[in-house]
Amino acid sequence: MDSSVTAGKLDFSSCDRQQVQFPGAIFPHGVLLVLDVAGQKVLQASANTHTYFDLDASELINKDIGHLFGQGPITVLQKRFAELPESTNPVYLGRINARSAQKFDAFAHRIEGVIVLELELVLNDTPVPIADLYVEVRQCTTRLHAAKTVRETLEVVVDQLRRMTGYDSVLGFKFFEDGSGCVLAESRRPEFASYLDKHFPATDVPEPARRQLRVTPFQYVSDAAYEPVPLVPEMHPLTGRPLDLTFALLRCTSRMCDRYYLNMGVHGKLVLSLLKDGELWGIISCLSATPHHLPHDVRMACESLANMVSLLLSAKQQAEHYAQALETKRRVGQMIDCMTKEPVFQLCLVQQHEPNLSECLDAQGAAVIIDNAMTMLGNTPTEAEVKDLLSWLDSQTEIIATRHLPERYPPARQFQKSASGLLAARLSAGKGYLLWFRPEVVEEISWAGDPNKPMEVDEENGEIRLTPRRSFELWKETVYGTARAWQEYEIEAADELRRAVNTLHQMEELNRTKSQLEKSNAELESFAYIASHDLKEPLRGIRNFSHILEESVGQSLNLEDQRRLGTITRLTQRMDNLIETLLQYSRTERLELSREEADLNEIVNNITQPLEGDPTRQARIIIPKPLPRVVCDPVRISEVFSNLITNSIKYNDKPEKCVEIGFTEGKPVTFYVRDNGIGISQNHYEDIFRIFKRLHKRDEYGGGTGAGLTITKKVIERHGGNIWLESKPEEGTTFYFTLGPIGEN
Ligand code: ADP
Repeated sequence: MDSSVTAGKLDFSSCDRQQVQFPGAIFPHGVLLVLDVAGQKVLQASANTHTYFDLDASELINKDIGHLFGQGPITVLQKRFAELPESTNPVYLGRINARSAQKFDAFAHRIEGVIVLELELVLNDTPVPIADLYVEVRQCTTRLHAAKTVRETLEVVVDQLRRMTGYDSVLGFKFFEDGSGCVLAESRRPEFASYLDKHFPATDVPEPARRQLRVTPFQYVSDAAYEPVPLVPEMHPLTGRPLDLTFALLRCTSRMCDRYYLNMGVHGKLVLSLLKDGELWGIISCLSATPHHLPHDVRMACESLANMVSLLLSAKQQAEHYAQALETKRRVGQMIDCMTKEPVFQLCLVQQHEPNLSECLDAQGAAVIIDNAMTMLGNTPTEAEVKDLLSWLDSQTEIIATRHLPERYPPARQFQKSASGLLAARLSAGKGYLLWFRPEVVEEISWAGDPNKPMEVDEENGEIRLTPRRSFELWKETVYGTARAWQEYEIEAADELRRAVNTLHQMEELNRTKSQLEKSNAELESFAYIASHDLKEPLRGIRNFSHILEESVGQSLNLEDQRRLGTITRLTQRMDNLIETLLQYSRTERLELSREEADLNEIVNNITQPLEGDPTRQARIIIPKPLPRVVCDPVRISEVFSNLITNSIKYNDKPEKCVEIGFTEGKPVTFYVRDNGIGISQNHYEDIFRIFKRLHKRDEYGGGTGAGLTITKKVIERHGGNIWLESKPEEGTTFYFTLGPIGEN
């Protein structure tokens, strides 16, 4: 033994090269006979035949098996041999009596052109009477179905197995992606060491052992301190190589594996494989501190329970996966809910409440970086390290999830203990990041045995082999810088949180802009109101004084000065009109609508009737069908119709002026006022709604202030509606408007 050999110099693969299926030897608790294809002649025999039959193995070679069994048993055996399939697990042939009067459980299988017959002495010492096994298994099956999680399933089965087998301790293991394992369930005598929730490195179950566990449903060793029994002759007589014992029940286990168990103080063991989709998902280890014999019937019952667990695993794991995904969704939902209620939503992300950001995604640490402010939660790298990490993240995709951060970002080696796993979500518009950290696995979990023991190696047949358990350091080497994997649903949850933060950010900005806008609008409105109100007074003064002037000295002025004085009066009048319009407009802004149900026919009639007697405003008014009743402010809506109808006549140079007033059904109802007037070119569709905007010279088309449509639009919008137009220059214009939901009956 060379205890100074370091991991670097060692060929660790020697462990995996072990050919466990060709040990050339068996356990001493049974006899193995290799028979010719007809099942007649003995070709090889285990060296322990004399213990059971009083005949040495060498004496049996090339002899008929009739030397061991009477004619009756042989006839039964050979009939069953004929039905054996090739290369499968052994078939149980029943109990047979040997000439020596001993009873054996017989198993046989075919391989490499021979029949392998295995005989196990029947001992009657089962903890549960054989007859009760069926009932036990059936009851356990019901409990297995009821179990909700994988852990619960394993808890049920380990309890049951210990009762049925009498082992000191039964452990349910699950293997992880990296090959390491964890004890999820345990049933044991109090004096037996507990391994519950302990982790075992991948090297504790080397690959050949895993291969074997995939092929054979269980491995049974009544005493790990056994002396292997070699086969005589050593080589398969037909192939000249050691016999392939893959399927043999008595195939002895690897010495390394036995030593592993003896190191743990275990002599008797039964290892049952748990397969999921043909892959080794875990194992159930039944252990006893003393040699432990388990009869075939009980082993079969154990095997069927393990099979049952294997079958249930997919369903339970999926159910558990969904439950975890749901739980993550629930926690993230809680966080989003909190953020929407909190006036400063960022506080929810950084506060230590239930669940905090880190717990939301089952991480050990988290960091929130918003608007250059950084807050750390739990187990994280330092602020400076996170700052550097952020510059790297800027060049990555919006969301990255890695369990090998140091591999992707080498500076992370400095802080891999706390952050080998990173899930990072970038917020929009360079606002910052949400980060979650998971520590290195070797740090996070509790290990069975002492991981710090110096490694020892054995030299056997010139080959260096690791001694079990001491291989821990090497395994650790391979998983440095690795964290628990991020699940798809966790990445989705991070994305959901990221989107929620983005939305809240946008809402915050929108609200800010909205209140700024509201403030400046209010200021503008009051400014327009105050300005127009205050301007009226000096204007009144100017008008009065110009009147006085006109009356007192008007006659004495020359014509030019009289004209100038007249212009002052006219401009003052015009300014008064403009200010009045401005006042009217700012009142519209402040106005409270007083809504009631109104008949639009009445409103329109009141506008069109006075026109009939006015020769300057004559037009043919067409109302194709009676207008509906609507809920509106009738005074304001009357202003709308009045303005549109007046404009239709005003901006019309046709000999017969036509104005059509109607509506189209729909939700909402659309009203229209159509004329055959001068039309409006499309590039002015928006201008005409601007205050004081006229498309013509001041006095053309009867003049106007250019505020009518502005006020019309405002009134319609106050009703929750819209106004728009279609027009063809020279042909006419149609103004459409709606009154929004409040206008509908
Ligand atoms: P005003 O009529 O006092 O000038 P409005 O705001 O009512 O102000 O209209 C703005 C401008 O839109 C008008 O000056 C006119 O040029 C144009 N306009 C409005 N209605 C019509 C129409 N029915 N046909 C053609 N032009 C129109």
